[in-house]
Amino acid sequence: MSLLQPAQMAFDDPGLATRRAELVATLRAFLPEDAVLERREEVQPYECDGLSAYRQLPLLVVLPRTVEEVRRVLKTCYEREVPVVARGAGTGLSGGALPLGDGIVLSLARFNQILELDPVARTARVQPGVRNLAITEAAMMHGLYYAPDPSSQIACTIGGNVAENSGGVHCLKYGLTVHNVLAVTFVTMEGELVQLGSEALDAAGYDLLALYIGSEGMLGVTVEVTVKLLPVPERAQALLAAYDDVEKAGLAVGEIIAAGIIPAGLEMMDGPAIQAAEDFVHAGYPTDAAAILLCELDGTNQEVSEQIMQVRELLLASGATEVRTSQNDAERIRFWQGRKSAFPAVGRISPDYYCMDGTIPRRALPEVLKRTAELSKEYDLRVANVFHAGDGNMHPLILFDANKPGELERTEELGGRILELCVEVGGTITGEHGVGIEKINQMCVQFSPEELRQFHAVKEAFDPRSLLNPGKGVPTPRRCSEYRQLPDRAHRH
Ligand SMILES: Cc1cc2nc3c(=O)[nH]c(=O)nc-3n(C[C@H](O)[C@H](O)[C@H](O)COP(=O)(O)OP(=O)(O)OC[C@H]3O[C@@H](n4cnc5c(N)ncnc54)[C@H](O)[C@@H]3O)c2cc1C
Repeated sequence: MSLLQPAQMAFDDPGLATRRAELVATLRAFLPEDAVLERREEVQPYECDGLSAYRQLPLLVVLPRTVEEVRRVLKTCYEREVPVVARGAGTGLSGGALPLGDGIVLSLARFNQILELDPVARTARVQPGVRNLAITEAAMMHGLYYAPDPSSQIACTIGGNVAENSGGVHCLKYGLTVHNVLAVTFVTMEGELVQLGSEALDAAGYDLLALYIGSEGMLGVTVEVTVKLLPVPERAQALLAAYDDVEKAGLAVGEIIAAGIIPAGLEMMDGPAIQAAEDFVHAGYPTDAAAILLCELDGTNQEVSEQIMQVRELLLASGATEVRTSQNDAERIRFWQGRKSAFPAVGRISPDYYCMDGTIPRRALPEVLKRTAELSKEYDLRVANVFHAGDGNMHPLILFDANKPGELERTEELGGRILELCVEVGGTITGEHGVGIEKINQMCVQFSPEELRQFHAVKEAFDPRSLLNPGKGVPTPRRCSEYRQLPDRAHRH
């Protein structure tokens, strides 16, 4: 049995069917017919997010079109004590949008409009269901773009990005979602509309905007986001360096940063990830390399010319067996294509894969890679490594087959050990994918009982009945005490 999946609820359970019928009648009194999905085949597409090992059919799916409808849906659920899970595109990798059997999924898919794009102020005011890449596509005609670029940017929504504080290749230089969002408007569980932040750079009082960003849909339902736009740099150029040893590549990452250069992207892939990506998109990667580093530099023509030479020398001095420099934009994009397709590429070589997300200090990179390889042997599960090396954000991909008895449970345990290794070396259990249900046990390792009590107090201040995405993100004290007492954990710590 899975260690993480909450107890499953049967869709046809008579008690749930009665609750469903009552709620449908109430919601249809103020929502159009097509805004409430109640039949099994209608709600099935919402049963999981990108962490598809875990599935649960929701009680109902509700697709409002206006802020007023969101307010009324939430107020109704509040009064009837029905839990609510907000959903963007469902690409999340930590189970954040996993439904609850007795709760609704509130999809923001119909909130897909860019409300205003101001090229002078360099801001865009958008609805939460707007895709991340759609913002850049709209801003490009003004020579602007939205910097945070998750690899899922073609599909994921800005509402989901805000909830997960998402990152991407460009975040090393330009920051995460939290550094690129100026204001958020959300609806509380009671149906109240709240705005945090403004177009000004700072505001009086507590920085609640920073608290809200990354809160995984547990504090409110986002209905509008104002983002910063940046000018497209004059020039961008990328380097691809091959290594015969993963540790050497790991050390080179630290040397580039230590030289005072902040690349626009600094990513690493190990042998299995290189092979999978090459077979999938034919990016021209050296498949005999143990690791590759991809380094992009952007800025003015002069800056890029100087830094390309400097980084090239650093890479060669750090033991790279080959260094290629992109000669044009098409080649630069091809270098990145393999990296950006790495997850689906790995999905082709294994029936299932589990994408971990931990962050470590850069200096610990070689050690963590070595110990991850040892753990991979111990659990007899293959691991491919793809990561935002510049900011120490690792994505070990564990390859498994959920149809083989016990393999999912072994994968979960191996994943847990890798995350705990990240904490041990001074890192954290998430870099950008959030906690969701996936890392809920490791929250007990990362934080003390007192810290977790404070997290619960924050949740209670926003959502006193704990109806917004309950059971995700922050573990209960009981869950932690049970987890800490697991015989295997006691032995390891
Ligand atoms: C192939 C692939 C590559 C990826 N690469 C990256 C990457 O490079 N960087 C990265 O950070 N992530 C990455 N992800 C993870 C994922 O795409 C991000 O977490 C993304 O932000 C999720 O957006 P979404 O719209 O799909 O949200 P969903 O999956 O629908 O939801 C995610 C969470 O946000 C909450 N939520 C969604 N909308 C709202 C709202 N309007 N109000 C309140 N809460 C809301 C949900 O309740 C849930 O907790 C990747 C995923 C895949 C499948």
